[in-house]
Amino acid sequence: MRKKIVAGNWKMNMNLEEGISFARSVDQYFRKNPSAKAEVILCTPYIHLPGISQILKDSKVALGAQNCASEASGAFTGEVSAYMIKSTGADYVIIGHSERRIYYKEDDRLLNKKTLLALNSGLKVIFCCGEVKEERESNMHFLIVKRQLEEGLFTLPAEEIQNIVIAYEPVWAIGTGLTATPDQAQEMHKYIRGLVKEKYNSSIAENITILYGGSCKASNAVEIFSKPDVDGGLIGGASLKKEDFVAIVEAV
Ligand code: PEP
Repeated sequence: MRKKIVAGNWKMNMNLEEGISFARSVDQYFRKNPSAKAEVILCTPYIHLPGISQILKDSKVALGAQNCASEASGAFTGEVSAYMIKSTGADYVIIGHSERRIYYKEDDRLLNKKTLLALNSGLKVIFCCGEVKEERESNMHFLIVKRQLEEGLFTLPAEEIQNIVIAYEPVWAIGTGLTATPDQAQEMHKYIRGLVKEKYNSSIAENITILYGGSCKASNAVEIFSKPDVDGGLIGGASLKKEDFVAIVEAV
């Protein structure tokens, strides 16, 4: 059975104290309620990683970053490498989030480079893909996602793909309150699994975790997660309130 995951993407929210206290309360919840079927990951800003990593020692909750540098080390002022992230105790990194693609002009080639660096540093990668509104409206969404995966991810050898989680995040649904319908999510997830099968093999395709992201909340999570190719969610806004986040995890 493939792994179910719910990952919270805090984006640029919460100062150090707020983040530590929030992570502590999420951790305590899952220590008291260990029956959750999904692996829970908190993807925090860089500054929180070392402190939260201490809190999450021996926890069911895993830790991740939201980005990493596209170079391994050296004179890149302000950047944080995958190797540094790994040294904090984090296990995951999000790569290719649409906010990075759009605001920081990160393209498929650069994201491929980051993915390779992250894997080489021992991190698992949550690799995001998804189309913007105009691409869906002009029926280009399958083509766009195919290109993003082929150029960003499918250069990896089969043995590395097991360290990848794919997140399908239609950009028009991120932070907008618009959600893909469960059928739209299923259609794209099935398509992505098919691409993985074509490129690798059916066992890899069956085992890869594919998350949905885009205005996922407690009220729509059950329906979206009930689809056979949706293996959990990447959650932005709703990951910032413990009750909402926990309810989404419980929806798996
Ligand atoms: C995200 O940022 O990955 C995301 C899915 O955001 P939201 O849940 O707020 O739409």
